[in-house]
Amino acid sequence: MSDDTIGVEEFRVQARAWLAANLEPWPDPDHIPRGGEDPGPEKVAASRVLQRKLFDAGYAGITYPTQYGGAGLTPAHERVFAEEARPYQLPDFGGAGQVMFTAIGRSLLDHGSPELLARHIPPLLRGDELWCQFYSEPEAGSDLAGIRTTARRDGDTWVINGSKIWSTGAHHADWAMCLARTDWDVPKHRGLTWFVVPTDAPGVTVRPITQIDGTAGFCEAFLDDVVVPATAIIGELNQGWTVTQTMLVYERGAGQSRSQSVEPRVLAPDLVELARRSGRLDDPVARQLVARAHVNDNALYHLGRRLGAVIRSSPTPQPALAAYGKLAIGTLQPIRARIALELGGAGALMWEPDERDDAAGTATSYLNARQASIAAGTNEVQRNGISERVLGLSREPTFDANKPFSEVVRDARHWDHKVG
Ligand SMILES: Cc1cc2nc3c(=O)[nH]c(=O)nc-3n(C[C@H](O)[C@H](O)[C@H](O)COP(=O)(O)OP(=O)(O)OC[C@H]3O[C@@H](n4cnc5c(N)ncnc54)[C@H](O)[C@@H]3O)c2cc1C
Repeated sequence: MSDDTIGVEEFRVQARAWLAANLEPWPDPDHIPRGGEDPGPEKVAASRVLQRKLFDAGYAGITYPTQYGGAGLTPAHERVFAEEARPYQLPDFGGAGQVMFTAIGRSLLDHGSPELLARHIPPLLRGDELWCQFYSEPEAGSDLAGIRTTARRDGDTWVINGSKIWSTGAHHADWAMCLARTDWDVPKHRGLTWFVVPTDAPGVTVRPITQIDGTAGFCEAFLDDVVVPATAIIGELNQGWTVTQTMLVYERGAGQSRSQSVEPRVLAPDLVELARRSGRLDDPVARQLVARAHVNDNALYHLGRRLGAVIRSSPTPQPALAAYGKLAIGTLQPIRARIALELGGAGALMWEPDERDDAAGTATSYLNARQASIAAGTNEVQRNGISERVLGLSREPTFDANKPFSEVVRDARHWDHKVG
Protein backbone atom coordinates (compact mmCIF):
# COMPACT_ATOMS: atom_id res chain seq x y z
CA MET A 1 0.00 0.00 0.00
CA SER A 2 1.20 3.53 -0.46
CA ASP A 3 0.02 6.90 0.73
CA ASP A 4 -2.05 7.67 -2.36
CA THR A 5 -3.56 4.21 -2.86
CA ILE A 6 -6.05 4.49 -0.03
CA GLY A 7 -7.64 7.51 1.63
CA VAL A 8 -7.91 7.68 5.39
CA GLU A 9 -11.69 7.20 5.52
CA GLU A 10 -11.64 4.27 3.10
CA PHE A 11 -8.87 2.76 5.21
CA ARG A 12 -11.06 3.25 8.31
CA VAL A 13 -13.92 1.31 6.73
CA GLN A 14 -11.63 -1.54 5.69
CA ALA A 15 -9.92 -1.66 9.08
CA ARG A 16 -13.26 -1.65 10.91
CA ALA A 17 -14.50 -4.63 8.90
CA TRP A 18 -11.24 -6.55 9.30
CA LEU A 19 -11.11 -5.94 13.05
CA ALA A 20 -14.71 -7.10 13.53
CA ALA A 21 -14.03 -10.27 11.55
CA ASN A 22 -10.65 -11.15 13.05
CA LEU A 23 -10.13 -9.87 16.59
CA GLU A 24 -11.88 -10.49 19.91
CA PRO A 25 -13.53 -7.40 21.40
CA TRP A 26 -12.92 -6.54 25.06
CA PRO A 27 -15.82 -7.87 27.16
CA ASP A 28 -16.48 -4.42 28.68
CA PRO A 29 -15.86 -1.54 26.24
CA ASP A 30 -15.92 0.93 29.16
CA HIS A 31 -13.20 -0.92 30.98
CA ILE A 32 -10.33 -1.42 28.56
CA PRO A 33 -6.96 -2.10 30.25
CA ARG A 34 -4.50 0.74 29.73
CA GLY A 35 -1.66 -1.75 29.06
CA GLY A 36 2.02 -1.60 29.93
CA GLU A 37 2.23 -4.29 32.64
CA ASP A 38 4.36 -7.38 32.06
CA PRO A 39 2.16 -9.83 30.14
CA GLY A 40 3.98 -13.05 31.13
CA PRO A 41 5.19 -15.79 28.76
CA GLU A 42 1.79 -17.25 27.78
CA LYS A 43 0.33 -13.90 26.78
CA VAL A 44 3.53 -13.05 24.91
CA ALA A 45 3.25 -16.32 22.94
CA ALA A 46 -0.42 -15.58 22.12
CA SER A 47 0.52 -12.01 21.20
CA ARG A 48 3.10 -13.25 18.72
CA VAL A 49 0.31 -15.18 16.94
CA LEU A 50 -1.96 -12.11 16.94
CA GLN A 51 0.86 -9.89 15.72
CA ARG A 52 1.41 -12.17 12.74
CA LYS A 53 -2.30 -11.91 11.96
CA LEU A 54 -2.04 -8.11 11.92
CA PHE A 55 1.10 -8.31 9.80
CA ASP A 56 -0.44 -10.64 7.23
CA ALA A 57 -3.39 -8.26 6.88
CA GLY A 58 -1.13 -5.20 6.47
CA TYR A 59 -1.96 -3.63 9.84
CA ALA A 60 1.45 -4.07 11.53
CA GLY A 61 3.85 -1.24 10.83
CA ILE A 62 1.22 0.96 9.16
CA THR A 63 3.73 3.81 8.66
CA TYR A 64 6.73 1.52 8.01
CA PRO A 65 8.10 1.35 4.43
CA THR A 66 6.59 -1.34 2.24
CA GLN A 67 10.02 -2.73 1.31
CA TYR A 68 10.44 -3.85 4.93
CA GLY A 69 6.97 -5.30 5.38
CA GLY A 70 5.12 -2.14 6.46
CA ALA A 71 2.07 -0.58 4.83
CA GLY A 72 3.81 2.66 3.79
CA LEU A 73 0.91 4.82 4.99
CA THR A 74 0.72 8.03 7.03
CA PRO A 75 0.43 8.79 10.76
CA ALA A 76 -3.22 9.71 10.06
CA HIS A 77 -3.87 6.12 8.90
CA GLU A 78 -2.11 4.83 12.01
CA ARG A 79 -4.25 7.03 14.24
CA VAL A 80 -7.44 5.86 12.53
CA PHE A 81 -6.43 2.25 13.04
CA ALA A 82 -5.73 2.94 16.75
CA GLU A 83 -9.19 4.50 17.08
CA GLU A 84 -10.95 1.60 15.36
CA ALA A 85 -8.90 -1.03 17.19
CA ARG A 86 -9.50 0.39 20.65
CA PRO A 87 -12.44 -1.93 21.51
CA TYR A 88 -10.44 -5.02 20.47
CA GLN A 89 -7.85 -7.20 22.15
CA LEU A 90 -4.59 -6.42 20.36
CA PRO A 91 -1.23 -8.13 20.84
CA ASP A 92 0.12 -7.23 24.28
CA PHE A 93 3.89 -7.29 24.70
CA GLY A 94 3.71 -5.04 27.78
CA GLY A 95 6.15 -2.14 28.11
CA ALA A 96 8.37 -3.82 25.51
CA GLY A 97 5.65 -3.46 22.86
CA GLN A 98 5.45 0.27 23.48
CA VAL A 99 9.14 0.71 22.58
CA MET A 100 9.58 -2.10 20.06
CA PHE A 101 7.44 -0.72 17.25
CA THR A 102 8.41 2.90 17.92
CA ALA A 103 11.79 3.64 19.53
CA ILE A 104 13.56 0.46 18.42
CA GLY A 105 12.03 -0.10 14.98
CA ARG A 106 12.19 3.58 14.05
CA SER A 107 15.78 4.01 15.19
CA LEU A 108 16.76 0.94 13.19
CA LEU A 109 14.98 2.36 10.15
CA ASP A 110 16.74 5.72 10.50
CA HIS A 111 20.24 4.35 11.08
CA GLY A 112 20.47 0.65 10.13
CA SER A 113 22.11 -0.56 6.91
CA PRO A 114 19.74 -1.86 4.18
CA GLU A 115 20.95 -5.42 4.95
CA LEU A 116 20.22 -5.03 8.64
CA LEU A 117 16.75 -3.64 7.92
CA ALA A 118 15.89 -6.39 5.43
CA ARG A 119 17.05 -8.98 7.95
CA HIS A 120 15.31 -7.61 11.06
CA ILE A 121 12.40 -5.26 10.34
CA PRO A 122 9.95 -7.75 8.75
CA PRO A 123 10.38 -10.30 11.59
CA LEU A 124 10.03 -7.49 14.15
CA LEU A 125 6.74 -6.36 12.61
CA ARG A 126 5.54 -9.97 12.33
CA GLY A 127 6.22 -10.63 16.04
CA ASP A 128 8.77 -13.31 15.19
CA GLU A 129 11.54 -11.20 16.73
CA LEU A 130 10.91 -9.38 19.98
CA TRP A 131 13.41 -6.65 20.81
CA CYS A 132 14.60 -4.81 23.91
CA GLN A 133 17.01 -1.98 24.67
CA PHE A 134 20.27 -2.43 26.59
CA TYR A 135 21.36 1.13 27.36
CA SER A 136 21.02 2.09 31.07
CA GLU A 137 23.70 0.79 33.41
CA PRO A 138 23.98 0.69 37.20
CA GLU A 139 26.25 3.77 37.02
CA ALA A 140 24.79 5.48 33.96
CA GLY A 141 21.09 6.33 33.64
CA SER A 142 20.44 10.05 33.31
CA ASP A 143 24.09 10.44 32.34
CA LEU A 144 23.66 7.95 29.53
CA ALA A 145 26.86 8.97 27.71
CA GLY A 146 28.76 7.76 30.77
CA ILE A 147 28.13 4.04 30.09
CA ARG A 148 31.04 1.65 30.63
CA THR A 149 30.00 -1.46 28.70
CA THR A 150 32.87 -1.98 26.27
CA ALA A 151 33.04 -3.42 22.76
CA ARG A 152 36.54 -4.44 21.61
CA ARG A 153 37.28 -5.25 17.97
CA ASP A 154 38.72 -8.72 17.43
CA GLY A 155 39.27 -9.56 13.75
CA ASP A 156 35.87 -9.82 12.07
CA THR A 157 34.01 -9.62 15.36
CA TRP A 158 33.31 -7.37 18.34
CA VAL A 159 33.58 -8.69 21.88
CA ILE A 160 31.22 -6.99 24.34
CA ASN A 161 31.56 -6.88 28.14
CA GLY A 162 29.49 -5.00 30.70
CA SER A 163 26.21 -4.90 32.57
CA LYS A 164 22.87 -3.28 31.79
CA ILE A 165 19.80 -2.61 33.88
CA TRP A 166 16.07 -1.72 33.64
CA SER A 167 15.79 -3.36 30.27
CA THR A 168 12.05 -3.59 29.58
CA GLY A 169 10.89 -7.00 28.39
CA ALA A 170 14.44 -8.40 28.00
CA HIS A 171 13.23 -11.74 29.44
CA HIS A 172 10.84 -12.07 26.46
CA ALA A 173 13.17 -10.56 23.85
CA ASP A 174 15.06 -12.36 21.10
CA TRP A 175 17.29 -9.39 20.24
CA ALA A 176 18.65 -6.29 21.94
CA MET A 177 19.89 -2.92 20.77
CA CYS A 178 22.99 -2.54 22.94
CA LEU A 179 24.99 0.64 23.57
CA ALA A 180 28.73 0.11 24.16
CA ARG A 181 31.89 2.18 24.34
CA THR A 182 34.15 1.57 21.38
CA ASP A 183 36.67 4.37 22.01
CA TRP A 184 37.79 5.35 25.52
CA ASP A 185 40.25 8.00 24.34
CA VAL A 186 37.71 10.57 23.18
CA PRO A 187 35.11 12.58 25.18
CA LYS A 188 32.23 10.47 26.42
CA HIS A 189 29.63 11.32 23.76
CA ARG A 190 32.01 10.51 20.88
CA GLY A 191 33.18 6.95 21.57
CA LEU A 192 29.83 5.15 21.62
CA THR A 193 28.38 2.57 19.19
CA TRP A 194 25.08 0.64 19.08
CA PHE A 195 25.15 -3.09 18.41
CA VAL A 196 22.57 -5.71 17.51
CA VAL A 197 22.91 -8.52 20.07
CA PRO A 198 20.96 -11.80 20.15
CA THR A 199 19.79 -12.30 23.75
CA ASP A 200 20.54 -16.04 23.52
CA ALA A 201 24.19 -15.47 22.50
CA PRO A 202 26.75 -17.21 24.75
CA GLY A 203 27.73 -14.80 27.54
CA VAL A 204 24.36 -12.96 27.75
CA THR A 205 22.57 -13.43 31.09
CA VAL A 206 19.17 -11.82 31.58
CA ARG A 207 17.53 -11.67 35.02
CA PRO A 208 14.07 -10.19 35.65
CA ILE A 209 13.79 -7.67 38.50
CA THR A 210 10.78 -7.97 40.81
CA GLN A 211 8.98 -4.64 41.09
CA ILE A 212 6.93 -3.00 43.81
CA ASP A 213 3.69 -4.53 42.44
CA GLY A 214 5.12 -8.07 42.46
CA THR A 215 5.47 -8.37 38.67
CA ALA A 216 8.77 -8.34 36.80
CA GLY A 217 8.56 -6.25 33.63
CA PHE A 218 12.19 -5.34 33.31
CA CYS A 219 15.56 -6.97 33.77
CA GLU A 220 19.22 -6.66 34.49
CA ALA A 221 21.54 -8.12 31.86
CA PHE A 222 25.17 -9.16 31.95
CA LEU A 223 27.38 -9.39 28.88
CA ASP A 224 30.48 -11.53 29.36
CA ASP A 225 32.71 -11.83 26.27
CA VAL A 226 29.69 -11.71 23.98
CA VAL A 227 30.86 -12.06 20.38
CA VAL A 228 28.93 -10.37 17.55
CA PRO A 229 29.96 -9.97 13.89
CA ALA A 230 31.60 -6.74 12.69
CA THR A 231 28.41 -6.03 10.72
CA ALA A 232 26.27 -5.94 13.89
CA ILE A 233 26.67 -2.16 14.16
CA ILE A 234 23.67 0.18 13.98
CA GLY A 235 24.70 3.44 12.31
CA GLU A 236 28.36 4.50 12.22
CA LEU A 237 31.19 3.36 14.44
CA ASN A 238 31.62 5.81 17.36
CA GLN A 239 28.54 7.78 16.27
CA GLY A 240 26.22 6.05 18.73
CA TRP A 241 25.18 9.34 20.33
CA THR A 242 23.44 10.33 17.07
CA VAL A 243 21.44 7.10 17.14
CA THR A 244 20.71 7.69 20.83
CA GLN A 245 19.24 11.12 20.08
CA THR A 246 16.94 9.57 17.49
CA MET A 247 15.92 6.77 19.82
CA LEU A 248 15.12 9.11 22.68
CA VAL A 249 12.95 11.29 20.45
CA TYR A 250 10.87 8.28 19.45
CA GLU A 251 10.85 6.88 22.96
CA ARG A 252 9.81 10.12 24.58
CA GLY A 253 7.12 10.66 21.99
CA ALA A 254 6.17 7.02 22.24
CA GLY A 255 5.78 6.98 26.00
CA GLN A 256 2.05 7.25 25.56
CA SER A 257 0.10 4.11 26.14
CA ARG A 258 -2.18 2.85 23.39
CA SER A 259 -5.24 4.35 25.08
CA GLN A 260 -3.58 7.78 25.17
CA SER A 261 -2.95 7.76 21.43
CA VAL A 262 -6.73 7.77 20.87
CA GLU A 263 -8.66 11.00 21.37
CA PRO A 264 -10.36 10.81 24.80
CA ARG A 265 -13.81 11.86 23.60
CA VAL A 266 -15.73 10.05 26.35
CA LEU A 267 -15.40 11.36 29.91
CA ALA A 268 -12.73 9.16 31.60
CA PRO A 269 -14.86 5.95 31.63
CA ASP A 270 -12.56 4.02 33.97
CA LEU A 271 -12.70 6.81 36.56
CA VAL A 272 -16.45 7.29 36.22
CA GLU A 273 -16.80 3.55 36.84
CA LEU A 274 -14.63 3.79 39.96
CA ALA A 275 -16.73 6.69 41.26
CA ARG A 276 -19.89 4.69 40.54
CA ARG A 277 -18.57 1.65 42.41
CA SER A 278 -17.73 3.71 45.47
CA GLY A 279 -21.14 5.47 45.36
CA ARG A 280 -19.63 8.91 44.61
CA LEU A 281 -21.14 9.77 41.24
CA ASP A 282 -22.93 12.79 42.72
CA ASP A 283 -20.12 13.83 45.02
CA PRO A 284 -18.85 17.24 43.76
CA VAL A 285 -15.28 16.45 44.87
CA ALA A 286 -15.31 13.19 42.89
CA ARG A 287 -16.78 15.00 39.86
CA GLN A 288 -13.99 17.60 40.01
CA LEU A 289 -11.39 14.83 40.11
CA VAL A 290 -12.88 13.08 37.07
CA ALA A 291 -13.09 16.40 35.20
CA ARG A 292 -9.47 17.19 36.01
CA ALA A 293 -8.33 13.80 34.71
CA HIS A 294 -10.40 14.24 31.54
CA VAL A 295 -8.89 17.68 30.90
CA ASN A 296 -5.40 16.23 31.42
CA ASP A 297 -6.17 13.28 29.10
CA ASN A 298 -7.15 15.73 26.38
CA ALA A 299 -4.13 17.95 27.04
CA LEU A 300 -1.85 14.91 26.67
CA TYR A 301 -3.51 13.75 23.49
CA HIS A 302 -3.41 17.15 21.78
CA LEU A 303 0.09 17.96 22.99
CA GLY A 304 1.23 14.58 21.63
CA ARG A 305 -0.33 15.25 18.22
CA ARG A 306 1.08 18.75 18.00
CA LEU A 307 4.58 17.75 19.05
CA GLY A 308 4.46 14.74 16.75
CA ALA A 309 3.67 16.99 13.77
CA VAL A 310 6.48 19.44 14.62
CA ILE A 311 9.02 16.68 15.25
CA ARG A 312 8.07 14.78 12.08
CA SER A 313 8.46 17.90 9.95
CA SER A 314 11.94 18.59 11.34
CA PRO A 315 14.90 17.27 9.31
CA THR A 316 16.95 16.56 12.47
CA PRO A 317 16.03 14.78 15.74
CA GLN A 318 14.49 17.12 18.31
CA PRO A 319 15.08 15.49 21.71
CA ALA A 320 14.42 18.72 23.60
CA LEU A 321 11.02 19.18 21.93
CA ALA A 322 10.14 15.55 22.60
CA ALA A 323 10.99 16.32 26.24
CA TYR A 324 7.80 18.41 26.50
CA GLY A 325 5.65 15.37 25.73
CA LYS A 326 7.65 13.11 28.01
CA LEU A 327 7.50 15.64 30.86
CA ALA A 328 3.73 15.94 30.40
CA ILE A 329 3.28 12.16 30.65
CA GLY A 330 5.71 11.92 33.57
CA THR A 331 3.75 14.60 35.41
CA LEU A 332 0.15 13.80 34.49
CA GLN A 333 0.22 9.99 34.65
CA PRO A 334 1.06 9.90 38.39
CA ILE A 335 -1.66 12.54 38.99
CA ARG A 336 -4.22 10.39 37.13
CA ALA A 337 -3.24 7.30 39.11
CA ARG A 338 -3.61 9.26 42.34
CA ILE A 339 -7.07 10.47 41.25
CA ALA A 340 -8.12 6.86 40.59
CA LEU A 341 -6.96 5.85 44.05
CA GLU A 342 -8.89 8.73 45.63
CA LEU A 343 -12.04 7.82 43.69
CA GLY A 344 -11.74 4.12 44.46
CA GLY A 345 -11.40 4.79 48.20
CA ALA A 346 -11.00 1.75 50.46
CA GLY A 347 -12.12 -0.54 47.62
CA ALA A 348 -9.00 0.36 45.68
CA LEU A 349 -6.72 -0.42 48.60
CA MET A 350 -8.06 -3.77 49.81
CA TRP A 351 -9.48 -6.76 48.00
CA GLU A 352 -10.17 -10.44 48.44
CA PRO A 353 -7.59 -12.72 46.79
CA ASP A 354 -10.12 -13.89 44.15
CA GLU A 355 -10.92 -10.27 43.19
CA ARG A 356 -7.27 -9.44 42.57
CA ASP A 357 -7.30 -8.95 38.82
CA ASP A 358 -10.14 -6.48 38.91
CA ALA A 359 -9.73 -4.63 42.20
CA ALA A 360 -5.94 -4.53 42.40
CA GLY A 361 -5.67 -2.68 39.09
CA THR A 362 -6.17 0.76 40.63
CA ALA A 363 -3.59 0.18 43.36
CA THR A 364 -0.98 -1.32 41.05
CA SER A 365 -1.49 1.48 38.52
CA TYR A 366 -0.84 3.92 41.33
CA LEU A 367 2.36 2.10 42.33
CA ASN A 368 3.51 1.84 38.71
CA ALA A 369 2.66 5.41 37.71
CA ARG A 370 6.01 6.72 38.97
CA GLN A 371 7.63 4.77 36.15
CA ALA A 372 6.36 7.38 33.72
CA SER A 373 8.41 10.04 35.51
CA ILE A 374 11.62 7.98 35.17
CA ALA A 375 11.53 5.85 31.99
CA ALA A 376 13.27 7.33 28.91
CA GLY A 377 14.70 10.12 31.06
CA THR A 378 13.41 11.52 34.36
CA ASN A 379 11.22 14.61 34.73
CA GLU A 380 14.27 16.54 35.99
CA VAL A 381 16.29 15.55 32.93
CA GLN A 382 13.43 16.65 30.62
CA ARG A 383 13.29 20.00 32.43
CA ASN A 384 17.07 20.41 31.98
CA GLY A 385 16.73 19.67 28.25
CA ILE A 386 13.88 22.15 27.80
CA SER A 387 15.60 24.89 29.77
CA GLU A 388 18.96 24.51 28.03
CA ARG A 389 18.03 23.58 24.47
CA VAL A 390 14.64 25.19 23.92
CA LEU A 391 14.60 28.18 26.26
CA GLY A 392 18.34 28.91 25.92
CA LEU A 393 18.99 29.17 29.66
CA SER A 394 22.53 28.60 30.94
CA ARG A 395 23.82 25.03 30.77
CA GLU A 396 24.51 22.80 33.74
CA PRO A 397 28.19 22.99 34.74
CA THR A 398 30.08 19.92 33.52
CA PHE A 399 33.54 18.64 34.34
CA ASP A 400 33.73 15.66 31.99
CA ALA A 401 32.22 16.59 28.62
CA ASN A 402 35.49 17.49 26.89
CA LYS A 403 37.93 15.05 28.51
CA PRO A 404 38.77 11.63 27.08
CA PHE A 405 36.45 9.22 28.92
CA SER A 406 39.38 7.09 30.12
CA GLU A 407 40.67 10.17 32.00
CA VAL A 408 37.23 10.86 33.46
CA VAL A 409 37.08 7.33 34.88
CA ARG A 410 40.70 7.48 36.09
CA ASP A 411 40.07 10.83 37.85
CA ALA A 412 36.84 9.55 39.39
CA ARG A 413 38.72 6.58 40.85
CA HIS A 414 41.31 8.93 42.31
CA TRP A 415 38.55 11.10 43.76
CA ASP A 416 36.76 8.06 45.26
CA HIS A 417 40.05 6.90 46.78
CA LYS A 418 40.76 10.24 48.44
CA VAL A 419 37.22 10.55 49.77
CA GLY A 420 37.19 6.92 50.99
C1 LIG B 1 9.49 1.77 33.30
C2 LIG B 1 10.94 1.90 32.93
C3 LIG B 1 11.39 1.29 31.78
C4 LIG B 1 12.73 1.39 31.43
N1 LIG B 1 13.16 0.70 30.32
C5 LIG B 1 14.46 0.71 30.02
C6 LIG B 1 14.94 -0.10 28.93
O1 LIG B 1 14.17 -0.80 28.26
N2 LIG B 1 16.25 -0.11 28.67
C7 LIG B 1 17.15 0.62 29.40
O2 LIG B 1 18.34 0.55 29.10
N3 LIG B 1 16.73 1.42 30.45
C8 LIG B 1 15.41 1.45 30.77
N4 LIG B 1 14.96 2.21 31.84
C9 LIG B 1 15.93 2.98 32.62
C10 LIG B 1 15.75 4.49 32.50
O3 LIG B 1 16.19 4.96 31.26
C11 LIG B 1 16.54 5.12 33.67
O4 LIG B 1 15.95 4.66 34.88
C12 LIG B 1 16.48 6.63 33.62
O5 LIG B 1 17.21 7.13 32.54
C13 LIG B 1 17.04 7.26 34.92
O6 LIG B 1 18.30 6.74 35.21
P1 LIG B 1 18.62 6.16 36.67
O7 LIG B 1 17.51 5.22 37.05
O8 LIG B 1 20.02 5.63 36.64
O9 LIG B 1 18.52 7.41 37.65
P2 LIG B 1 19.69 8.45 37.98
O10 LIG B 1 20.26 8.95 36.71
O11 LIG B 1 20.63 7.84 38.97
O12 LIG B 1 18.86 9.62 38.64
C14 LIG B 1 18.55 9.64 40.05
C15 LIG B 1 17.84 10.95 40.38
O13 LIG B 1 18.73 12.05 40.11
C16 LIG B 1 18.12 12.98 39.22
N5 LIG B 1 19.13 13.53 38.30
C17 LIG B 1 20.12 12.85 37.66
N6 LIG B 1 20.84 13.67 36.89
C18 LIG B 1 20.29 14.91 37.05
C19 LIG B 1 20.61 16.19 36.52
N7 LIG B 1 21.62 16.37 35.67
N8 LIG B 1 19.84 17.25 36.89
C20 LIG B 1 18.79 17.09 37.78
N9 LIG B 1 18.47 15.89 38.32
C21 LIG B 1 19.20 14.82 37.96
C22 LIG B 1 17.09 12.17 38.43
O14 LIG B 1 16.06 12.99 37.92
C23 LIG B 1 16.59 11.19 39.49
O15 LIG B 1 15.60 11.80 40.28
C24 LIG B 1 13.63 2.14 32.22
C25 LIG B 1 13.16 2.79 33.38
C26 LIG B 1 11.83 2.67 33.73
C27 LIG B 1 11.35 3.37 34.98
